[in-house]
Amino acid sequence: MEITRGERTEEMTQYIFVTGGVVSGLGKGLTSAAIGTLLESHGLKIALQKFDPYINVDPGTMSPFQHGEVYVTPDGAETDLDLGHYERFTSCEISQHSNYTTGKIYSSVIQRERRGDYLGKTVQVIPHITDEIKESISRVGSTDVDVVITEIGGTVGDIESLPFLEALRQFGHQHGRENVLFIHLTLLPFIKASGEIKTKPTQHSVGRLREIGILPDILVCRTEIDVEQEVCDKLALFCNVPTESVFIEKDVETSIYELPLVLRQQQMDKRILDHFNREPGSGNMDNWIEVVESLKNPQNEVEIGVVGKYIELTDSYKSIYEALTHGGIANNARVRFRRIQAEDLANGDPAAVLGGVDGILVPGGFGERGLEGKVNTIRYARENNIPFFGICYGMHAAVIEYSRNVLGIQEASSTEIHKDTPDPVITLLQDQHDVSEKGGTMRLGGWPCRFDESSTCFKEYGMTDVSERHRHRYEFNNDYRERLKEAGLRISGTSPDGELVEVVEVENHPWFVACQYHPEFQSKPFAAHPLFKGFVSASLERRTRGV
Ligand code: GLN
Repeated sequence: MEITRGERTEEMTQYIFVTGGVVSGLGKGLTSAAIGTLLESHGLKIALQKFDPYINVDPGTMSPFQHGEVYVTPDGAETDLDLGHYERFTSCEISQHSNYTTGKIYSSVIQRERRGDYLGKTVQVIPHITDEIKESISRVGSTDVDVVITEIGGTVGDIESLPFLEALRQFGHQHGRENVLFIHLTLLPFIKASGEIKTKPTQHSVGRLREIGILPDILVCRTEIDVEQEVCDKLALFCNVPTESVFIEKDVETSIYELPLVLRQQQMDKRILDHFNREPGSGNMDNWIEVVESLKNPQNEVEIGVVGKYIELTDSYKSIYEALTHGGIANNARVRFRRIQAEDLANGDPAAVLGGVDGILVPGGFGERGLEGKVNTIRYARENNIPFFGICYGMHAAVIEYSRNVLGIQEASSTEIHKDTPDPVITLLQDQHDVSEKGGTMRLGGWPCRFDESSTCFKEYGMTDVSERHRHRYEFNNDYRERLKEAGLRISGTSPDGELVEVVEVENHPWFVACQYHPEFQSKPFAAHPLFKGFVSASLERRTRGV
């Protein structure tokens, strides 16, 4: 193909692969996202992607106890929560191609096999699975992307990671070393008794990678304490990388948003640009410096009660906590969380548990456990004029609460919880009735929503039409719409045709918004989602007024 000057081809896209060693849970997702931040500061267009070596096709059917939050892409894929970090740290566009599991790779190969696409050949891990993996990397490396950053879940040495690592090795070989960069993230354990930092696990882990044929270009080492230069020199020598390619990622003091600055201080951006033979851009990261400054020295403080079902697992509501923190940054306030198990509010006086909070948020959830506690919580927020934010299941609970306690429909419920309730104020839509498969069958991804101009939502967003991401099966039942409206429940946002109720608000309340969608997926540290910004602001106002 003839290339004219200034025109790009896919071959110009360069690739970073981030692997992990020694132990899992080192924060590969955050590190990958922070690397994306650095590259964007030099004007590069990046894409981020994650491979998960488990067999589930996606995490959509996995329990929050197993997996944490299920992150939803605009095109409706249920994906790993690391994609949330990718979106919060960068302006990359994510889609269903941003997350592949072993299950997703295999199911696509098996479908092709059933269609006869392999023309009678024996279908094998190598080359068919590895080819599919390589194709899925190239799929995000479109013509306008400069650098693709692909993170490989799990730890080097796991049996299930092997096909992915073999695919990366081949990819590196085929695209040329100057276009592919391998970053390996490990842990340097500190042995208290001898007061020493240990490099041996990292050496072994790099050794395992080398057996597979991957030579890491950059090492990133997590530590709890400062590390002497001597340790970096030793790692460089035994792991076969230049000393300037050993980076230390000491635990951050205040916030994960410090990470891009920590890596920049060690000039990781320069190292990567040199490898790719790219000119640096401005490297301006002033907005990150401001974010960190505001997190370290906020002028105010506010306490938000989060009442949910998976409250002991902070990962299950990851994006909610992040979005609340962003709302805090926008209001120059530290947001403290009071995490409350919904079941604890099923009986007794809610004030005993919720007393003193400045705002209350009820997040999404599934199943019966915790519903009554959430309903009691919402009643408490509504009757005591405490700013309230309900999300998805939290919106269902708000509609149930209003129907029961304001309209007096005692048995109002959701058919998710009470199949035969005489008053299903939340119910399945007709086309959901026949769904028997569990995975990927909900209302998923970005859907348009139109706001009433007299609503709090319109005021917060400053516009009438938005797109927000959904993940649910049950909906507001229009049979109750008029009665609820007459009783003071404002239908403030609907689908543009007016059919689906997307947001309800309580009139004559300082701030009461309950939405069917998940706004937390579209919030960034320096661009808080308008509803989180507004909610934190209303909570702050309540605190300063001292009501
Ligand atoms: N369980 C509810 C439904 O499926 C709400 C889901 C959610 O909160 N994400 O409709």
